[in-house]
Amino acid sequence: MSIGTGKRDYDVIVAGGGLAGMITACSVAFYSNQSLRILVIDRNPLSSLGKKTVTGWICGDAVGKNAVDYMSNRIGIRWKNPEIEHYVKGVVAYSPDHETAISFDGEGYLLNRKILPQKQMNDALKLGIEVKDRVALRSLLFEDNSIVGVVGEEVGTRETYKRTAKLIIDCTGVTSVLRANLPIKSNIERRINRNDLEATGRYIYTFKIAQDDKTYFDPDYCIIHLDQQIAPGGYAWVFPKGDNKANIGLGVQQKAFETLNKQTGTKKDLKLLIDEYVRSNPVLKDLKMTDEESDQGNSWGTWQVSVRRQNDCLVANGYILVGDAAWMPKPIDAGGIGPAIIAGTIAGREAVQAIQQNDVSEKGLWNYNKNFIDEYGYKTAGLEVFRRMLQDLSNDQINYGMKHFLSKMDVEKITNGEHPEFTAVDKLSMFIKGVVNRTLAENLSHTSKMNRKLVNHYHNFPEEPGGFAQWHLTLEQILKEAFAKFRN
Ligand SMILES: Cc1cc2nc3c(=O)[nH]c(=O)nc-3n(C[C@H](O)[C@H](O)[C@H](O)COP(=O)(O)OP(=O)(O)OC[C@H]3O[C@@H](n4cnc5c(N)ncnc54)[C@H](O)[C@@H]3O)c2cc1C
Repeated sequence: MSIGTGKRDYDVIVAGGGLAGMITACSVAFYSNQSLRILVIDRNPLSSLGKKTVTGWICGDAVGKNAVDYMSNRIGIRWKNPEIEHYVKGVVAYSPDHETAISFDGEGYLLNRKILPQKQMNDALKLGIEVKDRVALRSLLFEDNSIVGVVGEEVGTRETYKRTAKLIIDCTGVTSVLRANLPIKSNIERRINRNDLEATGRYIYTFKIAQDDKTYFDPDYCIIHLDQQIAPGGYAWVFPKGDNKANIGLGVQQKAFETLNKQTGTKKDLKLLIDEYVRSNPVLKDLKMTDEESDQGNSWGTWQVSVRRQNDCLVANGYILVGDAAWMPKPIDAGGIGPAIIAGTIAGREAVQAIQQNDVSEKGLWNYNKNFIDEYGYKTAGLEVFRRMLQDLSNDQINYGMKHFLSKMDVEKITNGEHPEFTAVDKLSMFIKGVVNRTLAENLSHTSKMNRKLVNHYHNFPEEPGGFAQWHLTLEQILKEAFAKFRN
């Protein structure tokens, strides 16, 4: 079926002018040689574009250089200071006992998420993209099982705002009401399981250094602390933004947090947990929430982030999903900036192709689905299994596992954002002492085996929507087998 692209107000409407929205809009402009009419709509005023909540542009602010290069090399968008606030050599994850460190992700940047959207907006305006601010989008317009526009409300006056387009690209973030209420028949999943969301929060602090201990603060490395007492079902972080400035926070799985509260007879909330974590850091003293203009209104806040594979289908007739709206953050570390950059770049190219071929149907847009999976999405289901396994472990198991079961090759795999193979587990099996550690070894082997199966399955993602139902059925069977061993 070819969906006609009749008279519309715009060729493309990008819903949400945050990180993913602006990259996607610029990519559409780039690949169409600025020949398409593009509108970006955001609920914030232009001066605070990209703001996730009333409390700010909540993020850990870290992104790998590779992802930024991916965008720069393809669509010519470059980021530098001041939107890049600080440079790091990599990320280091510490075991709960701080005895084992694994470094991964390579060189990276700490962004200023308040400044970046202004730079992104200027890039977009230069490319002839229109930006409409202060409109809260509420729903999608549809005709004949195809999305043809958006409806929202002007913030302040509450006047109805309605615009049509050949294609709507949803970049409204994890809480997308457009996706949740998608009014047409499609393969897109509308709702996320609560256990696949992490509750997260962070401060941006300046401080003095009380003592040198690179396992707590290192201006050259983003630090991750794995610890089920500090961040149940998630992790805590200290990401440097200078020699005396850092983004400090943590994310928890709500269910694991409730269990911890029950076990310890406490009623802590997320803020208390984060405050305790900050106070327990022996290196940082005289902490102050930053009051620099570039951080004003952004030095404390909480938000949610998804930690599952991306939505099993990213396209419907006249509609596609990019970024957090599509649950793209990496299941193992909730890093969503990298995949949003990659997806936005690809989505722009494929949107232009579909519009030029006068076919914005699910079939006409299918290449976006396929190409995102080939480029990035093939590994996320395996990492989701790995995340569920990790959430089940005690601190002792994490200490033991990180010390004994990670080979050099596994660390390399983790560095490249891939699932580790845990080949050392099989070699060591007869020396492993204790039932608990043997169970851990078995679970590591299981996740590694399931990961291979899942990656293989994603490499066989159907070329056309016709093959999706069968492919999806098999995916669900593999996931059922993979998740059966874990409580989460
Ligand atoms: C505490 C925390 C720490 C994180 N740390 C990292 C990290 O260190 N590295 C990393 O890679 N990722 C991190 N992430 C994830 C990362 O922040 C997201 O993946 C990224 O911001 C996704 O960009 P996005 O444009 O898809 O969505 P968002 O950034 O959420 O942008 C959505 C935009 O759409 C607008 N919008 C929403 N609804 C509507 C509506 N109805 N109408 C109009 N406009 C609307 C919003 O106002 C916003 O401008 C973290 C997330 C959290 C919460």
